[in-house]
Amino acid sequence: MESTCSHIEAIEEVKHPAKHVCQECIRMGAQWVHLRTCQSCGVTLCCDSSPPRHASAHARAASHPVIASAEPGERWLYCFHDDAFAEY
Ligand SMILES: [Zn+2]
Ligand SMILES: [Zn+2]
Ligand SMILES: [Zn+2]
Repeated sequence: MESTCSHIEAIEEVKHPAKHVCQECIRMGAQWVHLRTCQSCGVTLCCDSSPPRHASAHARAASHPVIASAEPGERWLYCFHDDAFAEY
């Protein structure tokens, strides 16, 4: 990985979703578009294309900057804090 941030560089093993759902969307009856997995705590939440934007809300609220795509076939990490992106 090149030209990423210290948060992404600190990740040695990518966390994958336990369940392919956004638990917050289920709770509020919302529909998600794509899913992202927090690399700090492993929670899987919806992306910024989903109206509730649970993953970015979680990243800000919990100071967990890095997410991985939870979509099948997508292998990338994103840091909200630094707006940094890396494929793995
Ligand atoms: Zn970062
Ligand atoms: Zn959601
Ligand atoms: Zn988290």
